[in-house]
Amino acid sequence: MNSRATLCVNEKGHLTIGGCDCIELARSFGTPLYVFDEDYIRGMMRIYRDTIANEYGDGLVLYASKAFSCEAMYAIAKQEKIGADVVSGGELYTAMQAGFPAEKICMHGNNKLPREIEYALDCGIGYFAVDDPTEADLLDRECEKRGTVQNVLLRINPGVEAHTHKFVQTATPDSKFGFSVTSGAAEAMTKHLLGKRHLRLRGFHCHIGSQIFEKQSFCVAAEKCLAFMADMKKKLSFEADTLNLGGGFGIWYTDEDEKFTFDGYAAYLRALIGAVKTGCAKYGLKAPKLMIEPGRSIVGEAGITLYTVGAIKEIPGLRKYVAIDGGMFDNPRFCLYESKYTALLAGRANEQPTEFVSIAGKCCESGDLIGVNMALPRAERGEILAVLSTGAYNYSMASNYNRNPIPPAVLVKDGKADYIVKPQSYEDLVRNDALPARLR
Ligand SMILES: *Cc1c(COP(=O)(O)O)cnc(C)c1O
Repeated sequence: MNSRATLCVNEKGHLTIGGCDCIELARSFGTPLYVFDEDYIRGMMRIYRDTIANEYGDGLVLYASKAFSCEAMYAIAKQEKIGADVVSGGELYTAMQAGFPAEKICMHGNNKLPREIEYALDCGIGYFAVDDPTEADLLDRECEKRGTVQNVLLRINPGVEAHTHKFVQTATPDSKFGFSVTSGAAEAMTKHLLGKRHLRLRGFHCHIGSQIFEKQSFCVAAEKCLAFMADMKKKLSFEADTLNLGGGFGIWYTDEDEKFTFDGYAAYLRALIGAVKTGCAKYGLKAPKLMIEPGRSIVGEAGITLYTVGAIKEIPGLRKYVAIDGGMFDNPRFCLYESKYTALLAGRANEQPTEFVSIAGKCCESGDLIGVNMALPRAERGEILAVLSTGAYNYSMASNYNRNPIPPAVLVKDGKADYIVKPQSYEDLVRNDALPARLR
């Protein structure tokens, strides 16, 4: 099932995470419940941080906070001395609330709002990854007003296609992100940025997709970025001192995926570092400050979701639906991408699956499923179902659809569990509703 020191099965046959029995967690906190394994999160942050420090030198790991953003995550990243990337004013605000150092934050987004740009400047964030010429103009004017000079990276599109689901590819020629190297758009934007008095272009950023296992696609992307850097040095006498290669490292969801250990991720990153060093030597470039932005791989496998099984409907000859007390409002990834997951019964975690079922949510939507053809032992109403690898892009994509409260999240470590996101109440759901006088 993808067990590890902090995700295993105890003598009662119960699934445990971070030393906590999942049946006890469900009893104490209720379901649905997001559970996050602190040791796994820290372990992944350290592996990336230390591999860059030991094998490369100057670099910075930025946790891609869109994977899971809450104050506790920024607090952990701060303690681990890594940076963060944010893609909205809301994520930035959350980081600030957690006391995160602004100079270690990079702001992304294909359409940063003027108010987000102003807020980010007020916070004093380290870098903007510029993705539009008028954004650069706006940013430059805002900095001029403030009498400051802002570090920026330019998001380029090296045209590398990562082998992954088409909806999560971002660097193909047709993308709302970045500027194409081959079309000359990236060069034109480089010139545009070099002409801005209040912007200091430090280098380039690319992000070639997500859930990538193919080391080669990263290495090719790195090589193309370095070739572009060499080209800009030659043509524009601009020598970039920073290269940000984005995130996208794959994680285990089902046994169709490779399972990397911490060492496996270190090897993955070493391959990428090797490609950067080779490229620098080939093109005669100084080694740039190397940034990476892992999101999913830091927090994805760290998280599981606990549900309670409710209605079970068997449609003879067709399929069996096992319904849970959550669904697309806490995990919309099957609806969006037909993403696959592994589920098990937390109270009988050692039992072999005996059937294939569809796990259905409770929303008024036939497509509200967590997965189809999922192998499970015969489940009964009231049992606790655990879905694994839900740490990334679940809570962060959750909604109040059907006015279901977004489930709380707990952080577990050494047998202790603490809320990092408190439960929403029904009062919370109507908190921002307003009743105009004529409706009263
Ligand atoms: C989404 C994203 C990431 C993180 O990707 P993961 O697959 O979660 O590692 C990093 N950088 C940028 C710019 C992104 O859009």
